Amino acid sequence: MDKPLGPGLYIVATPIGNLGDITLRAIETLRGVALVACEDTRVTGRLLSHLGIKARLLRHDDHADARAHEALLERIAAEPVALVSDAGTPLISDPGYRLVREARARGLNVTTIPGPSAMVAAITLAGLPSDRFLFAGFLPAKAKARAEVLAELAGVPATLVFYETSPRLIEALEAIGQALPGREVAVARELTKLFEECHSGPPAELAAHYTAHPPRGEIVLLVGPPVPKGPATMAEAEAMLRAELSHAKPSQAAATVARTTGLDRKALYARAMELK
Ligand code: SAM
Repeated sequence: MDKPLGPGLYIVATPIGNLGDITLRAIETLRGVALVACEDTRVTGRLLSHLGIKARLLRHDDHADARAHEALLERIAAEPVALVSDAGTPLISDPGYRLVREARARGLNVTTIPGPSAMVAAITLAGLPSDRFLFAGFLPAKAKARAEVLAELAGVPATLVFYETSPRLIEALEAIGQALPGREVAVARELTKLFEECHSGPPAELAAHYTAHPPRGEIVLLVGPPVPKGPATMAEAEAMLRAELSHAKPSQAAATVARTTGLDRKALYARAMELK
């Protein structure tokens, strides 16, 4: 490095699987800082030792107590400090928000060294519209909370991007099939790693595939935007109502079909009661 780094917080992205994805600036910065604040000193220690960098490590996250948080901010004011997460870009479903916000509020130098993030890698790979997307982090693990989040996002005219874990993938696909009928879904798994794959299709098809081939590793789940179409006919709406009634109450079925078709919810509820 030509010039020593000045005091401040350096937000450094690290690889999401393939160590070759570390950037030159990330290496220079990690080499030049006085301290690396990280989620897990063992994980970051392994990365630094792979890069041949000796650095002081400090475990830190958004739940650190007030004293530890204050002490780190004082160090950021006095010397260069890097912030990294276990993998990918800090703050993206990872700690750092509280630190960055407070460092900026104090007028400290805050800069970013961008690099890998699973969310961006997945949106480039999935073949779903990439002009507008909404990153929604992890879906809740509990069925009710997950259904609520999906219902809230159903009308967003953008590709939806979620982080997911392999044990919860099938449940999540089933929930998406129910809450967002007719939408194309993509599963991007093990990005940048040896077994990278990306499958897309209707959620029921993907759920069947992953039931037969239980997934392992890390996953980004994407849902294509609502498909714009002309007003649905009552016959189309009835077919959708019948499908919804197989697992939902008439009021829920009517709400889902009203959201998807734009038809009147009360009329759909009345029809759902007859079909029930
Ligand atoms: N900050 C990270 C980033 O920028 O991607 C994400 C951290 S979040 C705690 C971890 C989640 O990211 C995983 O559960 C998975 O959903 C996703 N993820 C991370 N690496 C991945 C990979 N190589 N392939 C697919 N998904 C990945």
